[in-house]
Amino acid sequence: MLKVHSIFKSIQGEGLLTGLPTVFVRLVGCPLRCKWCDTVDARSSAGKKMSIDDVVKEIADSKLRYVCITGGEPLAQDETITLMNRLMDQGYFIQLETSGALNLEEVPCSENVMISMDIKCPSSGEHEKMDFSNIELLSQFDQLKFVIANNTDYEYAKKIMRDNEINASIIMTPVGGIDLKELAEHVLKDRLQVRVMPQLHKLIWGDESDR
Ligand code: SF4
Repeated sequence: MLKVHSIFKSIQGEGLLTGLPTVFVRLVGCPLRCKWCDTVDARSSAGKKMSIDDVVKEIADSKLRYVCITGGEPLAQDETITLMNRLMDQGYFIQLETSGALNLEEVPCSENVMISMDIKCPSSGEHEKMDFSNIELLSQFDQLKFVIANNTDYEYAKKIMRDNEINASIIMTPVGGIDLKELAEHVLKDRLQVRVMPQLHKLIWGDESDR
């Protein structure tokens, strides 16, 4: 059984697939406590117990091909990998949102799976909980995201980029997802090979977490 916060249709608001109509499966539970967490309800609630069959059926009812499995931290539940395998067998494209704190070795490797991994920066209060061995598991088809709150975070992100060979696309987003100007100017000044991106769903719907 999976513990599910919600299943809903929306526009993908983050990363390389931004703008695509997507069905989101938001799972409950997360071992982290980021200071600026915008899904506290999913992190802490008990959720609704659903079988994999029922989750797959609800996804099928959406008639969408892109599925984003998010949370909370999806990998905190053992059956998330089973769900991914079922969806892959049925031809869906899956984006897995993960915090970077849990090991990715069990995540299926497929052209139909994109891992979207965070590296939590100091402002989150959880940057020391990252599993940095995950970085080398990311391919050019995956994405690595830094959410930047201040200059300390920005310098931290630059250090991670200097210290690691990163194959994935790198994305920087300001906390809150909208106020991009200062971050964009820093990235231009430093000529970083990263994408500066907003959170599109927040531009469209504000802070409603299930949009
Ligand atoms: S990893 Fe995500 S869900 Fe967990 S506390 Fe941090 S922001 Fe919230």
